[in-house]
Amino acid sequence: MQTIRHIRIGNGYDVHRLAAGLDFWLGGCRITHTKGCVAHSDGDVLIHALCDALLGAAALRDIGVHFPDTSSTYKSIDSKKILAETMTLVRAEGYEVGNVDTVVCLQSPKIAAYIPEMRQTLAGVMRVSETQISIKATTTEGLGFEGREEGVSAYAVVLLTK
Ligand code: MG
Repeated sequence: MQTIRHIRIGNGYDVHRLAAGLDFWLGGCRITHTKGCVAHSDGDVLIHALCDALLGAAALRDIGVHFPDTSSTYKSIDSKKILAETMTLVRAEGYEVGNVDTVVCLQSPKIAAYIPEMRQTLAGVMRVSETQISIKATTTEGLGFEGREEGVSAYAVVLLTK
């Protein structure tokens, strides 16, 4: 049995603007929608919040430090690659993931039907069990930028152990 010496918590938050005619990527999956996220990368807010939570738990700064949006390397990059690289950084410090809990805030479309695919996708990229990954969704009752469908936000908390 693993003896846990360190338990670390991290949190992450991300926002992207929505615009018509762009692909909408969330949790590593393509969502059918009339809008998508405006971003240097593919604009996957859920993965970006998750990466910041992972980096935060390991005190490894933030996603902007490791994957700058001024770098052509990350132009239109599949955020699953950013997540895989983030996991490499976290594991290099000796950490393993305990669990991940996330919330996506958007008014539409409903994403409940995509959540099983997102969990499976993220678990595969992170090389953890789906049971360690929770994805929740909420509207903001029409309030704020999410409610006006101008943007989407995501929150993530992560527990790391070693
Ligand atoms: Mg982002």
